[in-house]
Amino acid sequence: MKKLVTILIFAMLIFVSNVTIAFAQEPTKPEETEIWEPKPKVVTVDSETKIPLDAIVLFDGANFDEWVTAADSTEVKWILNGDGSMTVKNKTGDIQTKRNFGNIQLHIEWRSSPENTGSNQSKSNSGIFLQNRYEVQVLDNNDNDTYVNGQVGSIYKQSIPLAKASSKTGDWNSYDIIYHKPEFDSEGNKTKSATITVLHNGVLIQDHYEIKGTTEYIGWPKNIAHGDAPIKLQDHGDNSRVSYRNIWVRAL
Ligand code: MG
Repeated sequence: MKKLVTILIFAMLIFVSNVTIAFAQEPTKPEETEIWEPKPKVVTVDSETKIPLDAIVLFDGANFDEWVTAADSTEVKWILNGDGSMTVKNKTGDIQTKRNFGNIQLHIEWRSSPENTGSNQSKSNSGIFLQNRYEVQVLDNNDNDTYVNGQVGSIYKQSIPLAKASSKTGDWNSYDIIYHKPEFDSEGNKTKSATITVLHNGVLIQDHYEIKGTTEYIGWPKNIAHGDAPIKLQDHGDNSRVSYRNIWVRAL
């Protein structure tokens, strides 16, 4: 009998405490679910250029100060146009930022050339490589089909874009990219994939895609451990004549 009473009291205590917890978990006033601190930092956006003031401007048309030729770190040989843009100079090689980056928000504008009469992968082919390894494809796919995991806005040979949002050939396009770097353990094994979100002219075309590894022309993605690395722009070597302008980045 004594044992039974003890069990009953114990059961009642559990019941009452659960009811109490249930009441404690359900707020009854709006203030209980309001968070006031810490306040997010203030980021002012320039009213003219629309560039956030905490961004690093990588290219504003004035010079190539933030860039080098990728192959040998010599000065950039691409064409500075004088209208705020640059154009790939054929066979002078990819260019890359002097700075290394990890997680970023990147804004970049690009334009295909109406004079480029190539087809498939040879019509204004360039590309933006995050951390020197993971390519967001730049290509003129207006009246120009190619394999869809290699078309404009693809993560090259990995992720087909959700839409083709290209401007008319010769008009400017924008990419807004949110990129989170992959993580590796001390043995060099990947523990977390990189992720990427891309807006093409404001249209969502990559939605938090988990990058499988390097974006290879031939072969499967590779996952060799790496740290922060430059942003690279591609000279595809077939007279692509792709132009770029207004490039800025925010470290996340
Ligand atoms: Mg490319």
